[in-house]
Amino acid sequence: MSNCDLLDKCGFFQKHAKSHQAACQGLVTLYCKGPKQNECKRKEYRKKHGQPPPDDMLPGGAMLRS
Ligand code: SF4
Repeated sequence: MSNCDLLDKCGFFQKHAKSHQAACQGLVTLYCKGPKQNECKRKEYRKKHGQPPPDDMLPGGAMLRS
């Protein structure tokens, strides 16, 4: 499966993909580089609002809490 075409400009991916948080790694595997990339809420947001969501919004739609 190919990677999400927004990978290069996605704030979540840029900021959190290399994070050591296992949860983020799991999301990258599932969404950004996996079977759920077309169900990504960040993608949906971008389409709906014409601009990217906050970096801390997760692919599933929830906000990451630090
Ligand atoms: S978070 Fe969503 S939009 Fe961003 S790279 Fe992953 S699948 Fe693509």
